[in-house]
Amino acid sequence: MAVLHHVPQSVVSGVLEKTPLERYVAPAKPSLVGMSRARLGEALAAVGVAERQRKMRVQQLWHWLYLRGATSFDEMTSVSKELRAELAQRFTLDRPEVAAEQVSVDGTRKWLLRLPGEHPGEGGHEVECVYIPEADRATLCVSSQVGCTLNCSFCHTGTQRLVRNLTAEEIVAQVIVARDRLGDWPGRTPPEGAIVPTDGGRLVTNIVMMGMGEPLYNFEAVRDALQVVADGDGIAISKRRITLSTSGVVPMIERAGTEIGVMLAVSLHAVRDDLRDELVPLNRKYPIKELLDACRNYPGVSNARRITFEYVMLKGVNDQIADAKALVKLLKGIPAKINLIPFNPWPGTKYECSDWEQIEKFSELIFNAGYSSPVRTPRGRDILAACGQLKSATEKLTARERMALRAMAMTD
Ligand code: SAH
Ligand code: SF4
Repeated sequence: MAVLHHVPQSVVSGVLEKTPLERYVAPAKPSLVGMSRARLGEALAAVGVAERQRKMRVQQLWHWLYLRGATSFDEMTSVSKELRAELAQRFTLDRPEVAAEQVSVDGTRKWLLRLPGEHPGEGGHEVECVYIPEADRATLCVSSQVGCTLNCSFCHTGTQRLVRNLTAEEIVAQVIVARDRLGDWPGRTPPEGAIVPTDGGRLVTNIVMMGMGEPLYNFEAVRDALQVVADGDGIAISKRRITLSTSGVVPMIERAGTEIGVMLAVSLHAVRDDLRDELVPLNRKYPIKELLDACRNYPGVSNARRITFEYVMLKGVNDQIADAKALVKLLKGIPAKINLIPFNPWPGTKYECSDWEQIEKFSELIFNAGYSSPVRTPRGRDILAACGQLKSATEKLTARERMALRAMAMTD
């Protein structure tokens, strides 16, 4: 434990994977927030609720937790006073602490959530969760790990040394916290001046598992969390509106389809193994061909349920027209969408974002080959919330680095 903390980054970056260093230690009085039906059933058993009553009681808790956003047991008026008191003795409705909230000029919000670490009294860990509002939808970018064990060379999160898997509850809690902060519960309203969808619907409509971490390296927790989020009696964000992004953990892709059933996004980023080995080192374990075979066989894939291939535009690295042609050829026969992501620079990176002109040419070729190829507009750059810039204050940026980043954002 704690060994890698003192290893210089230069040593770490050549490594295929880092080992998770931190364990989750449950607090003495756990929170019910984020629990699945099964876990709530166990919680009820722990306070002595008889088995034949549990299903009904779980349903009541479900309603208060996930439809109403209850923050105190007192609110749960359909639950008997005695049971409320017993629950309050053993459990809380605590959310992770919001250590910081930043709001970008474009309405993007980033919340820094503080989670317990392995050692009580230690500062704990921080993960980030980002809210991206548009006119008729709003996407919440959710993290699956503190840091990431993988070391993609263009990704800021990958440079973070500390890694811990989030629990299922902590993953669901990110959605709850977002809805708390947005006033997205019955009877509540968004904060003054907040930019949210204007169509009168829900304030969080889509979820992308594209925050910190590799979701398929924390499979069970991500699965259980997404089942809670998609449950029609609660938060009810349909699986069609949930996207899980993976750097290509091939052996887990089929299970993701059968056991989670959400939309799949794959971080491809290169069309040749030698280059992908460098950009996404996991490629050395699971090369492009194996990855694409897994995509072809992704349960439920169809023209109506396409796989999104993410492709980060790195100047002079993977952005040539020949790459675009090879990309189209490579994806032949797979129901696919292509998502071109302008590279978001961070201090110390050796990469640059492709010129806009080049991105347009690349995109045009893909479009002419029959793919919709939206270029993902970088959002929230002024608060460091764009793709791959999610790196929590566990490893603090210096004030100068932050300023440099802001300057970069301004000069786009
Ligand atoms: N670990 C998962 C999900 C999180 S990353 C994965 O890699 O798919 C979400 C997306 O942002 C991925 O496609 C990732 O490759 C991309 N990304 C990472 N760093 C980036 C950067 N600096 N600029 C643009 N996109 C980046
Ligand atoms: Fe991890 Fe994804 Fe970043 Fe790669 S791109 S280091 S898998 S978070």
